[in-house]
Amino acid sequence: NGESRVVLSARGLRRDFGGFTAVRNVDLDVHHARVHALIGPNGAGKTTVFNLLTKFLQPSAGTINLLGTDITQTPPDKVARMGLVRSFQISAVFPHLTVLDNVRVALQRPNGLAHQFWRPLSALDTLNERAEQLLSTVGLSKERDVVAADLSYGRKRVLEIATTLALDPKVLLLDEPMAGMGQEDVGVIADLIREVARTRAVLMVEHNLSVVANICHHVTVLQRGEILAEGNYETVSNDPRVRVAYMGT
Ligand code: ADP
Repeated sequence: NGESRVVLSARGLRRDFGGFTAVRNVDLDVHHARVHALIGPNGAGKTTVFNLLTKFLQPSAGTINLLGTDITQTPPDKVARMGLVRSFQISAVFPHLTVLDNVRVALQRPNGLAHQFWRPLSALDTLNERAEQLLSTVGLSKERDVVAADLSYGRKRVLEIATTLALDPKVLLLDEPMAGMGQEDVGVIADLIREVARTRAVLMVEHNLSVVANICHHVTVLQRGEILAEGNYETVSNDPRVRVAYMGT
């Protein structure tokens, strides 16, 4: 079944900082066309896991496989080119450029969609078409001529997702995509993540549990660097150990 294909997996992932083990024994399977949440209290090791998966950090032990290739020894830029893209780190928004120009710049990056689909960009129309299409996907068409600096916080983050999508990720890692957002923007981003995940895998760190409940198919709970529980939200949120460790009840 293609829809339950594992696109990113980790086995026995571990990371030591000096004598301190921040992550240990972590096994993770991220599936195509699913939204997978990584949750847990502060200091649980979520950021470290993201850094290990994207190869910003080298694991002390364990293996990582992306789309059938072992990437345990692969440098981060190559991992990104292979399709594992972390938003809000790689995709910078240029504040002085318009929304449309931000997307056009992103499409023309070395691993941007412009280079995958087309011959050299003599075909400016095609680039513009693709940019407009991306803006329409994320619901930013109306703001196409707005200078990025003038966007609200929430709309800026939507633009960041658009520029990340310009790289055509197979696996999209999102670091607290709803952080600092009002309720309305949370809803927009939730819809967008759901839409994006129809054709790719999404792994996200998220503190907003109602968002996790609403859009995540699978949840992994970390505590003190280890997996405490996993499953769908209902299973995980009813797990007594999770209630004690994470939800405090
Ligand atoms: P989370 O993202 O879940 O809040 P982190 O992955 O940031 O957790 O941190 C997990 C643990 O690892 C914390 O105790 C943190 O202090 C420690 N840690 C993270 N990065 C480093 C580092 N570069 N050096 C030393 N300790 C670190």
